[in-house]
Amino acid sequence: MPLQTQPTLAERDQAVLWHPYTQMQTAPLPVAIVRGEGSWLIADDGTRYLDGISSWWVNLHGHSHPHIAQRVSEQLRTLEHVLFAGFTHPTAVELAEQLLAVLPAGQARVFYSDNGSTAVEVALKMVLQYFHNQGQPERRTFICFRDSYHGDTFGAMSVSGRGAFTAPFAPLLFDVAFIDVPVPGREVEVLAQLDALLGRPDLAGFIFEPLLLGTAGMITYTPAVLDELLRRCRAAGLLCIADEVMTGFGRTGLLFASSQLSRLPDIMCLSKGLTGGTMALGVTTCTAAIFDAFLSNDRLKTLFHGHSYTANPVACAAALASLELTLAPACTQQRADLAAAHAAVAAELAGQPGVRAVRHLGTVLAVEFEQAAGTSYFSSLRDQLYALALARRVVLRPLGNVVYLMPPYCTTPAELALLHDTLRAMRQLALNPAPDARI
Ligand SMILES: *Cc1c(COP(=O)(O)O)cnc(C)c1O
Repeated sequence: MPLQTQPTLAERDQAVLWHPYTQMQTAPLPVAIVRGEGSWLIADDGTRYLDGISSWWVNLHGHSHPHIAQRVSEQLRTLEHVLFAGFTHPTAVELAEQLLAVLPAGQARVFYSDNGSTAVEVALKMVLQYFHNQGQPERRTFICFRDSYHGDTFGAMSVSGRGAFTAPFAPLLFDVAFIDVPVPGREVEVLAQLDALLGRPDLAGFIFEPLLLGTAGMITYTPAVLDELLRRCRAAGLLCIADEVMTGFGRTGLLFASSQLSRLPDIMCLSKGLTGGTMALGVTTCTAAIFDAFLSNDRLKTLFHGHSYTANPVACAAALASLELTLAPACTQQRADLAAAHAAVAAELAGQPGVRAVRHLGTVLAVEFEQAAGTSYFSSLRDQLYALALARRVVLRPLGNVVYLMPPYCTTPAELALLHDTLRAMRQLALNPAPDARI
């Protein structure tokens, strides 16, 4: 009898699954990960991969962290879920209390949802209904950055930059007013773009990724210009939404990017690192003024939004455990060490041949490599950079010709050196790409 070989996990996956942001016809077999430990992901064949991007920006303290696992497992045995309308539970209350204590001043209420996109949807609805409840329904247009990313649901897509990802849905996205990102050197121009908009009677809010635009290619801009944008928006009566889904929980150095501002946001969105990368949970917080605009004897002024798993106790327990680790002095030290090591490599690579730009903010380091004009996210240089990292057993996902490091905070100096060496090797590749990369 012929020997039947069992299909691998990756082959079984390919028969039944549809992966995000993946062209399934041309994608190689996925890497099957069966275990996680610190900054490492361990494949079914035993290969260990260093997670240089915190598994899509979510992991803070390492994979399968024992403290988080302990809290989650205790919670699972105590209360796994309860509906959140008319009912409450200890972890939801405790997490809200603790978040409000560490968020920038002014945030007064916590609304739970499931992920970053839903945290943004809730924020947009809060703003729109805030004006609706006050008899100003004409205020319904958001100002946003042309290259921003706020998620993949329809409202979140609408306030995000338009591009290849949103093209099939473009006619259904609601209208917004775009301004450019005020990158260094363009501040005055962008403030003028904002001023040109601010007379409009239909403006409701301004939504932004504070100091660091992730998906756009780790684009940075200063707290000073953001403060000025916020000052002008608030003077014009707009509500300001800080989307800290990626920047929250220490990524940019301080606990929140907004902690570096003198102007306070009206609404904040959190997810990704909220549970330390353990499970899906979203949070939208707002000021008392916004919350109060929904208080009424008129039931139509209620915020009619909710998800089946709102404030899931297990997710809240993971978030409490992760927050405890994040607030410990040891974690502050880890983030400072990561930032210092990144700064040294940023200084080394800046200006070298093959490197167009280096951007560094807190625990995030991005290198934009030179490439032939007219190439993009879809260029084959991107694929070659990705393959180079994977061949070195390093997980990095270049955004076009931008390669960024966003490692878990527990990443050791030796592990970080592996990541930095990979950037150096990538510079060599960018200088001498395979022929098909020169489109
Ligand atoms: C990832 C991200 C989102 C969307 O979060 P999901 O959990 O992926 O839906 C929203 N805003 C920003 C800034 C993000 O980086």
